[in-house]
Amino acid sequence: MIWITQWLCTSRHCSIALAWDDKETTSKKVEEEGEGIYRRGVVVNRWCGICGGELHVEHGRTRFKAMDEAMAHLKALEKANLAARNIVGGKY
Ligand SMILES: [Zn+2]
Repeated sequence: MIWITQWLCTSRHCSIALAWDDKETTSKKVEEEGEGIYRRGVVVNRWCGICGGELHVEHGRTRFKAMDEAMAHLKALEKANLAARNIVGGKY
């Protein structure tokens, strides 16, 4: 199954999200990968850029069984979220 792991604030604004296949990795490894994104400074803030809230990690199973099946949906979500970020911007 395809899962999505998100670093969310309590208002559910998403800082980063990683999609992964449970045939290839584990939730623990994905959390480490996400932490690496923060450590390397790819995403600078360890808090929500919209409301300043503290982030927590959530793992959610998608309805997709394979990454190639999920990719078009994930790319559309990514595009919409990047557009929203450009509108909302970040205060923090
Ligand atoms: Zn927030």
